[in-house]
Amino acid sequence: MNIAKVVVDVPASQTNKIYDYSIPEHLIGIIEVGMRVIVPFGPRTIMGYVLDLTDHSDVKQLKAIKSLMDFSPILTKELIQLGKWLADYTMSFYISAFQAMLPQALKADYQKLLHRLTTALLPEPLEIAFAGRDYLDVEELNKFDLPLTIVKKSIADGDVEMIYQVNRRDNYKKQMMVKKSATIEQLDEYGANLSNRAKKQRLLVQYLADLNEPISLKTFLAKMKTTRQTLQPLIDQKLIKLYEEEVYRHPFDDQSIQRTEPLALKEQQKKALESITATCSEQSHDVFVLHGVTGSGKTEVYLQAIAHVIREDKEAIVLVPEISLTPQMVNRFKSRFGSDVAVMHSALSKGERFDEWRKIHRKEVKVVVGARSAIFVPFENLGLIIIDEEHEASYKQEDHPRYHVKDVAIERAKYHSCPVVLGSATPSLETFARAHKEVYQLLPMPERSNFSEMPHVEIVDMRDELHAGNRTMFSRKLKETIEDRLAKKEQIVLFLNRRGYSTFVMCRDCGDVIQCPHCDISLTYHRKQNRLKCHYCNYQEAVPTQCPSCESETIRYFGTGTQKIEEALNQLIPEARIIRMDVDTTTRKGSHERLLKQFGQKQADILLGTQMIAKGLDFPDVTLVGVLAADSLLNLPDFRAAERTFQLLTQVSGRAGRHKLVGEVIIQTYTPEHYSIEFARNYDYQGFYEREMALRKAFQYPPYYYLTLITVSHPNINKAQEVTRTISQLLGKYLSSETKILGPTPSPIERIKNRYRFQCMIKYKNEPNQREVLARILLYYEEMMRKNDLLIQIDLQPYQLM
Ligand code: ADP
Ligand code: ZN
Ligand code: ZN
Repeated sequence: MNIAKVVVDVPASQTNKIYDYSIPEHLIGIIEVGMRVIVPFGPRTIMGYVLDLTDHSDVKQLKAIKSLMDFSPILTKELIQLGKWLADYTMSFYISAFQAMLPQALKADYQKLLHRLTTALLPEPLEIAFAGRDYLDVEELNKFDLPLTIVKKSIADGDVEMIYQVNRRDNYKKQMMVKKSATIEQLDEYGANLSNRAKKQRLLVQYLADLNEPISLKTFLAKMKTTRQTLQPLIDQKLIKLYEEEVYRHPFDDQSIQRTEPLALKEQQKKALESITATCSEQSHDVFVLHGVTGSGKTEVYLQAIAHVIREDKEAIVLVPEISLTPQMVNRFKSRFGSDVAVMHSALSKGERFDEWRKIHRKEVKVVVGARSAIFVPFENLGLIIIDEEHEASYKQEDHPRYHVKDVAIERAKYHSCPVVLGSATPSLETFARAHKEVYQLLPMPERSNFSEMPHVEIVDMRDELHAGNRTMFSRKLKETIEDRLAKKEQIVLFLNRRGYSTFVMCRDCGDVIQCPHCDISLTYHRKQNRLKCHYCNYQEAVPTQCPSCESETIRYFGTGTQKIEEALNQLIPEARIIRMDVDTTTRKGSHERLLKQFGQKQADILLGTQMIAKGLDFPDVTLVGVLAADSLLNLPDFRAAERTFQLLTQVSGRAGRHKLVGEVIIQTYTPEHYSIEFARNYDYQGFYEREMALRKAFQYPPYYYLTLITVSHPNINKAQEVTRTISQLLGKYLSSETKILGPTPSPIERIKNRYRFQCMIKYKNEPNQREVLARILLYYEEMMRKNDLLIQIDLQPYQLM
């Protein structure tokens, strides 16, 4: 096998193919499928993935691979196949798909080091290269005429390993370990020969005789109350061995975690679990929809299903939305499975994330808990994939490759013949409709596990408040109830949806709202820095003292950010102690955790926050949940607005009265009659589902129709519009007559970063040629995209219509 098939790191359609490269003599037998290599490409040298090896090529003059980046494959055969599928399915470039599958640390600029793991002699050339050091920069290998087979073999034997050092600060941690390297007999013999005065040595020998596991040098010396010098005779006699071991950075403090045992399941949990584990044991693929109200004990079902999978010596992936991936959530898994769990979370540092990935790569863990991209972990013996809160929009990647994680999960589960579990109290309509049609298996859990009642939900019409002369953001009912809970020393969660309620700046004279000069969106006021910021392009400016259009000085801040609410609340109920959680108070690492801990320890009465607090939190003393503005989501130009409102209100309501105390929920709104609010109030998922499905059918939206969104942008408005029009016409011509093409229309946000945006939407039921037609259109515009700054984005399953 002296030819490698390589995908190169040039994301463009002309280069979106597989190139043949010859493998130079010294790399033959070393390069494997799934490794990254450095190859010449035109005048440059770039990175590429080896997808296959062969000994035949149709190309006459092959260029040779320059060097290799990995000594062991970082993509499995399955992941290579998955990457190709992902690229085709999202209409992305192969390279983008593969890049999306790897953790950032592997892609970053890093130094590659060989790390010596053994004190035994290495093969001679390698020993010379190390020259007594523990680390060797791989670049240095080139200086020595060193056959790479030797390096590779030493890695395979576990004598050295390759590490990627992202930067100095992320330097990986290590500790010295002590290991017994002699038999009991040898130790006895040594002990017998000791002089009577060598008390310490005798104690050491005794201790070592009972030592079965390696122990850290530090602990060992502390226990024996001795110094390193006293170990020297033992080392010289080869009775013990000292060696360095890597200490993984602990993303969450593990010491404090107590082991938990499986709970005795309720009937509904038992039924659900049995269906899942039966499918696991049969090694067949199926998709389950675990529809359980908040507090029904879905997590316990996940935990026991995973335990089953581990017993069958297989691996499990648990996906949790980024914002629900709290220490509380992670601890529920760690407390059950201990060090068998790895966590993949974007809040971890690059180094930490790399550590976690490496544990998986080295097969040191059985369970991965993570956000969206954890679906790509290189497990080879997958037995179960769980997607918690499956309705969450964050499971859709909004950048190349635009995939929905459910589709990837199902693809992987088919390959491994294992089940996928989609869990939610409010499944997405797409998912529930499939369960209805028995494409997926429905596992209902309609009751709360601890038999506590669902909290009572009260709707407050904020228009009545206005009429009664209450101009604050707090209804009389909410204020009274907060005061009541304060008196009872119970806790309160107040929820504000950030989106649509950011603080903007308006002139009271002319009504002008200050806009971003590059985007059609108003600037948001940030109090801390006293600046205006654009959330789309990061443009910033100082807060003006005069209106830019009429020069009046009556500039005012409007809208209700969490900060403003906090201030208003302080005025209204001065005795309340408040913890605010939003993007501003949780940017620092660990602050999220710290604030929750403080609230858990009752250092505050009210937790005030955005989406962040809507999920997963479980505090026994919370007996009141307030939603300040339920309609903020309803007004978004999106056909899923009602669904999202219903989901959010149901989620938030689930935060109250989860334990012994009875909970209450107060929802403030200007549109109390809206069905999403009404159904959420009654916890009526089925009712909401039927009503919403009827509307989706009438207006031809998913799940009745599929959507494809094409967004065209260009600095020139006419150009953007003209291209979109042509695309719409071409689609009309080449797609089937039942398919509807909507557009061209300006996008809801017409301009971002000085680019004008137009869109057209394809609504279809069955369109087998769609990808081909779209691919031809892209090809047609290829040159204009390359030379003329045109951008065409295709989203085959849009979740963001902006
Ligand atoms: P969900 O994920 O469905 O919202 P959880 O898994 O968080 O529900 O469970 C809600 C509460 O019920 C938790 O405090 C959990 O410990 C408890 N619980 C779950 N299953 C059982 C059970 N079988 N017996 C007793 N308590 C349970
Ligand atoms: Zn902007
Ligand atoms: Zn003005």
